[in-house]
Amino acid sequence: LEQIDALSVKSFPLCMRQLHKALRDNHHLRHGGRMQYGLFLKGIGLTLEQALEFWKKEFIRGKVDADKFDKGYAYSIRHSYGKEGKRTDYTPYSCMKIIMSNPPSQGDYHGCPFRHSDPELLKQKLQSYKIPPSGITQILELVKGMHYQLACQKYFELTHDVDDIGFSLNHPNQYFTESQRLLS
Ligand code: SF4
Repeated sequence: LEQIDALSVKSFPLCMRQLHKALRDNHHLRHGGRMQYGLFLKGIGLTLEQALEFWKKEFIRGKVDADKFDKGYAYSIRHSYGKEGKRTDYTPYSCMKIIMSNPPSQGDYHGCPFRHSDPELLKQKLQSYKIPPSGITQILELVKGMHYQLACQKYFELTHDVDDIGFSLNHPNQYFTESQRLLS
């Protein structure tokens, strides 16, 4: 868990960093968030056993006890790993899917912050992440023009100190892989 805390700051795109933080703060995520974040974690290499341990550890810090977790939540985690039901092995969501479908409502943390956050809140968040003011202005301009993935790409460049990442970003797991490649 601590390892994921560190990774979430260094190498997660904003959408996943937001989900991780919400999970750590609230010890809970609603269904949309569990799906978006859970499949991303699967994509970065968490095994089913690790995923069960990860979610359980956090959920039992909140209102859910171990028994309730095993009965209520473990099934859907196994399901997303293709171990239950129709045994579909679900793949992590692309940016397009996150941006275009299932917008978050009150109390949800899934979605794409560039698309779904109030621009003022997004600005505050970027400030708290120490993005320089000129960079924030550029990101907000891209958001205004509805270029959400380009805004995310700009955020990547600013947080990894590169001028041009040289690819077009279309998947949160691609963001993670590229980040790890640059940082290693
Ligand atoms: Fe996540 Fe994609 Fe949005 Fe970036 S553009 S925050 S990776 S959904």
